[in-house]
Amino acid sequence: MPSVDFDEVSKYVRLPDEARVLLERPERELRITMSLRLDSELMQTDVYVVYYNTARGPAKGGIRFWPTVTMDHTIELAEKMVWKTALAGVPFGGGKSGIALDPGKFSRMQKTAILKEYVHALRPDLIGGTYVPAPDMGTGSADMAVIFGETHLLESVTGKPPRVGGLPGRLEATGRGLSTCVRAAARKFLGRDLDGLTVAIQGFGNVGSWCAHFLDQYGARVVAVSDISGGVTAGSGLDVRRLAEWANQGNLLRDFAEYDKISNEELLAMNVDILVPAATEDVLTGENASAVSAKMIVEGANGPTTAEADAVLNDRGLPVLPDILANSGGVIASYIEWRKAKSGSLTSREETFQMVDDLVLAAFDRVTERTESWKTTPRVAARALSVEEVVNTMNDRGWI
Ligand code: NAD
Repeated sequence: MPSVDFDEVSKYVRLPDEARVLLERPERELRITMSLRLDSELMQTDVYVVYYNTARGPAKGGIRFWPTVTMDHTIELAEKMVWKTALAGVPFGGGKSGIALDPGKFSRMQKTAILKEYVHALRPDLIGGTYVPAPDMGTGSADMAVIFGETHLLESVTGKPPRVGGLPGRLEATGRGLSTCVRAAARKFLGRDLDGLTVAIQGFGNVGSWCAHFLDQYGARVVAVSDISGGVTAGSGLDVRRLAEWANQGNLLRDFAEYDKISNEELLAMNVDILVPAATEDVLTGENASAVSAKMIVEGANGPTTAEADAVLNDRGLPVLPDILANSGGVIASYIEWRKAKSGSLTSREETFQMVDDLVLAAFDRVTERTESWKTTPRVAARALSVEEVVNTMNDRGWI
């Protein structure tokens, strides 16, 4: 079942029956049994590759190298990429790959051998530009460099290291776009600039730490951050630069001695202006949503709010800016990297940030304008706008 409720969406946008049929199932699902000899051992693993919809361009979506990946979850993640790319206005469809292995169990050389085998299995699609992968859980820029090494095509993969055709500013891009969305949402829903507004951020990895960095620059007071171990808090504001250095050295936030400790559940319930869940999915649930004391939520992680939590938050009138809008900076940067690879042009970090800001703000304006005119939530407005965009493209292509 798609995550988008098409009955709900069709209250707001035209959704012909044929379009609905095409969007209810992925275009392609591949389950590959990958076999390779690592050292002297024969190893087999499942690989799932899903191209959910490619009306708007090549399937775009990361490679999740994680022991618990399944076909169903890969489909869900690929579907989300369809809506995210459409809402951001970048010419990509949605896809995803899953390699059902634990990344912690392999040496660098073994992981390289696995990725080379993955490329061999998907070679025609990667060379032909049908699918453009990127990093996801368990993969990073070094793995994308391996994929480029196999295809010899810079545009066949994004998220590469900057010296290997990667994009200056890609590392920061999701946190950058998220902070831009937080700033716009503060003006829209709280009626003021970020100066002095308090923010709590759950998750202090790539997305959370860069979001904290930019929010701090914009004058917000970041009063709590957490990782999987729990978090730290200070009413007068945290030194986010030192905390990022600490986390980047592989330390846990709970071991940072200078601030008061806080659990993840306490952070989610903190009395702050803005809550940014930027760690993982399903952290706001039917059980804890009524304890949220923030005035507004901006989703940095994919799917941090369950449907039950969403209903509670909506009943309470709390604005929730959805993931497909708020964390789209990453896929926007992927588009800039892909365009740069195709054109051979150079792009600066500042240009990356400018385009991320411009596209996030344009989508924010469209979503909030429709939220008001349709008298609905930002999540429903964002989904309906994305569906409308994909339906119109399928119409332009004569698919419906
Ligand atoms: P990351 O691995 O760099 O960081 C994750 C952070 O969350 C870490 O601090 C980790 O300790 C913490 N964490 C993990 N599980 C937790 C839990 N159960 N409770 C509290 N904290 C927990 O990951 P990331 O790249 O920052 O991604 C975070 C989220 O943002 C994910 O949902 C990801 O899918 C989404 N996202 C990432 C990007 C990107 O460009 N990195 C783009 C779009 C969406």
